[in-house]
Amino acid sequence: MKKKAKAVEVNMENLLRIFTVPEAPGSTLSRLENDISANLAGFLQEHIVAEETDLVEIERDFSDTLIPEQPVYVSEQTEFLLDKVVAQSVHTASPSFVGHMTSALPYFMIPLSKIMIALNQNLVKTETSKAFTPLERQVLGMLHRLVYDEPEAFYGQWLHDSYRHLGAFCSGGTVANITALWAARNRAFGPDGDFPGIMKAGMYAAMRHYGCEGAAVLVSERGHYSLAKAADVLGIGRDQIVAVETDDSNRIRPDALEATITRLRQRGIRPFALVGVAGTTETGNIDPLDALADIAAAEGLHFHVDGAWGGPTLFSERYRERLKGIERADSVTIDAHKQLYVPMGVGLVLFRDPAALKSIEHHAQYIIREGSKDLGSATLEGSRPGMAMLVHSALKIIGKRGYAMLIDNGIDLARRFADRIESLEDFELVTEPELNILTYRWCPAAAREALNEGDADSCRRINETLNRITRHLQKTQREHGKAFVSRTRLTPERYHRQAITVFRVVLANPLTTDEVLRDVIDEQRQIIAGMGEHEDVIELNRLLGSPVA
Ligand SMILES: *Cc1c(COP(=O)(O)O)cnc(C)c1O
Repeated sequence: MKKKAKAVEVNMENLLRIFTVPEAPGSTLSRLENDISANLAGFLQEHIVAEETDLVEIERDFSDTLIPEQPVYVSEQTEFLLDKVVAQSVHTASPSFVGHMTSALPYFMIPLSKIMIALNQNLVKTETSKAFTPLERQVLGMLHRLVYDEPEAFYGQWLHDSYRHLGAFCSGGTVANITALWAARNRAFGPDGDFPGIMKAGMYAAMRHYGCEGAAVLVSERGHYSLAKAADVLGIGRDQIVAVETDDSNRIRPDALEATITRLRQRGIRPFALVGVAGTTETGNIDPLDALADIAAAEGLHFHVDGAWGGPTLFSERYRERLKGIERADSVTIDAHKQLYVPMGVGLVLFRDPAALKSIEHHAQYIIREGSKDLGSATLEGSRPGMAMLVHSALKIIGKRGYAMLIDNGIDLARRFADRIESLEDFELVTEPELNILTYRWCPAAAREALNEGDADSCRRINETLNRITRHLQKTQREHGKAFVSRTRLTPERYHRQAITVFRVVLANPLTTDEVLRDVIDEQRQIIAGMGEHEDVIELNRLLGSPVA
């Protein structure tokens, strides 16, 4: 299949050809386009998880650092991509691929995304985006309304106002969280008398002016690591993302929060923002948002809700109540490439107050002039693609009812899977699903009994052995390539906060069924059954005094 391609002649005529629309349906580029579509459809249907090849081996195909002097034909590069990249990709759409937050995409995204790529609009300013700018504002308005449900007149007034923003689009939850804390920081340490504000004068001058030793953001110990990155780039320092203790359901403890605020103030550190998580990344739990809103109001903190994962739960009539209090947040992050089922690379942050983003606005003379409708003045990123078009399409094609069904389906499936695990002798449910995420581990009845009755030392040793077995199981299953669950470490109270390794299952793919999950468990059992000679199983048998596997 590796026919040696003949060299392409480098000339202006050939270069121009790659910039123009293929002339005829029979042209090489049109044929390639059809081939690629067929090939991708094949990949999406047939693969479970891509062929198992060691990453080190794959690296060999990507080790040449010389930019080719001589161009290659598009057909040759296409062949390379299909052969070396597509075939070695991870099939994120697989129904048994339940370890990550990247789900199957609705198929209409593939043709519609071509419109976005072909038009190649740049949302930084209206001159290069025209209709895409009001479209993006409309999507921000739609999601703002989903969260805050302001009256019609509010949206009539602010949606397209040149001096206001209902939120900001960006590349994902990380940048959305950075944007929220950026605005919060600039408002908390804003202009005051002669002081021009932290935005102009910087962190050091701000601390001096406001008479504090540092600025802190409070979040539960289950907060996403993007907040630490935000603290770093905002000059606050990672240590000032202060992790507050959680209860046994991985929700922030309001009493611990109050105590932390007092302690920080005693040290001269000023907390300026409080982050509530609506759907923790590891366990899908939701902080008590109403209680947090009360504390934020009483303490004068910016209240941000990280709903990157769980935000779309608001679509569900049945489960939206679980996010109660989110409507009191000053800002809310939602990742569109997670539960809005839009391709990778789009998230957004919404602000209750349409003037909040003024605190980070930047204007330049040649671009994004004051009073223009340019979106670039209130975003961290400069040039940005028209991803809003795909969010717009998903919101319309799937609709409120459709999203509600998808959300309900995932939460119900997680509940049934949790019930099933609880009914099994040889598995232990570690965290109950509040949304569509749960954690569990293999833990035979004899081990559970020993953990309940044994002293602290023997419990510790049993858990350590189980941790190694869980790790081995998870890796082996991933290598088999039929199914994928991820793993994380948690510190449940039932084991006196000892760290235990667990399987993590995220159920957002509508193609995942009870049967698929049954097979995941069956495969894990088979792996265990084949591990009789494994040192960790031998150790577990020794610790329990009887063979369990
Ligand atoms: C995924 C996630 C993020 C980060 O979003 P990215 O899109 O990966 O940048 C932040 N917070 C939570 C709770 C998340 O689940």
